[in-house]
Amino acid sequence: MSSTTSSIGTERKVVTELPGPKSRELHARRSAVVSSGLSQGFPVYIERGEGAILLDVDGNQLLDLGSGIAVVSIGHNVPALVDAVSAQVAAFTHTCFMVTPYEGYVKVCEELAQLTPGDFAKTSALFNSGAEAVENAVKVARLATGRQAIIVFDHAYHGRTNLTMALTSKNMPYKDHFGPFAPEIYRVPMSYPFRDGLDGPAAAARAISQIESQVGATNVAAILIEPIQGEGGFVVPADGFLPALSEWARANGVVFIADEIQSGFCRTGDWFAVNHEGVIPDIVTTAKGLAGGMPLAGVTGRAELMNAVHEGGLGGTYGGNPVATAAALATISTMRDLDLPARARAIGDVVLPRLRGLAQDAPIIGDVRGRGAMIAFELVKPGTTEPHAAAAKSIVNYCNQQGVIALSCGTYGNVIRLLPPLVITEPQLEDGLGVLADAIHAAS
Ligand SMILES: *Cc1c(COP(=O)(O)O)cnc(C)c1O
Repeated sequence: MSSTTSSIGTERKVVTELPGPKSRELHARRSAVVSSGLSQGFPVYIERGEGAILLDVDGNQLLDLGSGIAVVSIGHNVPALVDAVSAQVAAFTHTCFMVTPYEGYVKVCEELAQLTPGDFAKTSALFNSGAEAVENAVKVARLATGRQAIIVFDHAYHGRTNLTMALTSKNMPYKDHFGPFAPEIYRVPMSYPFRDGLDGPAAAARAISQIESQVGATNVAAILIEPIQGEGGFVVPADGFLPALSEWARANGVVFIADEIQSGFCRTGDWFAVNHEGVIPDIVTTAKGLAGGMPLAGVTGRAELMNAVHEGGLGGTYGGNPVATAAALATISTMRDLDLPARARAIGDVVLPRLRGLAQDAPIIGDVRGRGAMIAFELVKPGTTEPHAAAAKSIVNYCNQQGVIALSCGTYGNVIRLLPPLVITEPQLEDGLGVLADAIHAAS
């Protein structure tokens, strides 16, 4: 079995130019048959993975600081997950939970009820992707409240389907010419300490006053928010912002939905990012880190909301597929066994001070922020807060050339985000930070 074949090594090793000849050959084939509408990232073609290392088709060993966008938090090719998935594939791959059910789905919902914050009865429904989870959270909130308006935030990212494009903030590349978009979506300012200088309560008051004056509290079904924004730039709201919004929601009969698809499942040093401020959402959406790379997403919420939906109102052919739920159960037990929330905090304790130190000598770094292993720095034209997207691009390229997978993000494309597998070893982390320091130096 792949989980027990020889190790691919734990060190970054570049043996060809990047991308290498075999990757370039594959890339030429791709161009002929894969839509150019998919972005190209770093076109090295992957053969295997292990921990924080990916082996490409040319024999290069790449250090992964992106986890496939916060997905393989437990690392690549974890034996417990490989074994659980293999056993499930051998048993059965699909029945459709709504036709004939199976225990794995129920177990994942038991885990979600237990792990998500809130000491009340919760039920869940499972889906295939984050966007699908967000769509269903909105369906539940609208039905349960009998209201229509959904409040979202500047810089938000919630997916690429029609409803979630409308919920997402950034036009290019997500929305441009893909309209018309779904109605009854209202966008208000996010707390973005580096750019607005407001404390949490002041930023919340600004958002709430806009909601009350432009939408009206009694029209609002839900506030939908990423507790730490992902694609929008790893924006960490000022302390007090989330609690104030959630209190306002409770006082006004508005459902508070935390989109924890990127920030959830140990990434920020706790099981969920809202836990850092003791915020208890009515509904939580999860995906990415939940199932170690198998497609699975969850909507978990107060039973009285989730169960307000008529039978048959939620579902889908593949949602909560048995192979994906087996992967989620293996992922969750790995997270518990290895205490990955603690590991994420330890990563933050190493990386945040290091980046702050680098920022002192690199005026292109305007801000360093993050929690646990969800960390970013924002690049600016020196001496200003003007976004410097070219610097972000050059840092990503430099890292790639050295065999390090680093990702950018942000409304202005000027943020480098670090979200390594939480099992990354200390030497691997040191190695990655060394390359990053060189890349920042080269871009300065
Ligand atoms: C990635 C992401 C989504 C969309 O998930 P998909 O699985 O790509 O559909 C939604 N919300 C947040 C916060 C995300 O990071």
